[in-house]
Amino acid sequence: MRKRIGALLAALVLLTGCGAGSGIAVVEEAPEAEAEMVKYVALTFDDGPSPRCTPRLLDGLQELGARATFFVVGCQVVKDPDIVQRMAAEGHQVGNHSYDHAALNQLTSRQALEDLEKNDALLRQLLGDGDYWVRPPYGLLAEAEAAALTVPLVNWSVDTEDWRTKDSGKILDVIYRCTEDGDIVLLHDRYQNTVDAVLAAVAHLQEQGYVFVTVAELLALKGVAAEPGVTYRRA
Ligand SMILES: [Zn+2]
Repeated sequence: MRKRIGALLAALVLLTGCGAGSGIAVVEEAPEAEAEMVKYVALTFDDGPSPRCTPRLLDGLQELGARATFFVVGCQVVKDPDIVQRMAAEGHQVGNHSYDHAALNQLTSRQALEDLEKNDALLRQLLGDGDYWVRPPYGLLAEAEAAALTVPLVNWSVDTEDWRTKDSGKILDVIYRCTEDGDIVLLHDRYQNTVDAVLAAVAHLQEQGYVFVTVAELLALKGVAAEPGVTYRRA
């Protein structure tokens, strides 16, 4: 019997700690021309802006021609509104990560929605009308409240755990092992080690055909029509 090894490669993805918490081994088939495909990734930065870290990150992203999404916290925005204006002016997507960074799922429905509305109003005042997509703190918001929003919600498919390790090498390792076409990567622009790791990773991955876009761009490029009240984790 003659066995023909076709163009399809079977890749066993082992338990690498990638993704948003599942530990299931899956078999994937890679398309033939994968090496030549353009791969799109959305880097997302929570909890900023940070006057120590965000400007250097913006400088680096601008130099590399990479765009990202910043889920900012209202109580930080009021301290450094100019940095948030710079994000928007340089083509990044600005999103709503609540005003006070409370665990919204532990508040009453009304309190949670009021907190998100307070930050939304602040962003409108600062940047003008627009859709400020929501990432709830810790990625947690009750379904009923999510459904009440007029914008899409964004969680993530790659968790770098940068806030825990604060180690550039470990952050780079997760990005390199786990990031694939269509991923949404969770980061925080409050740590210098995160900025170091991200700028190194972007430069390296661009050489491999990765293009860094905003979450809205990523979904649009993948033909996903983003809907209000729906949570997106990857495209
Ligand atoms: Zn956060």
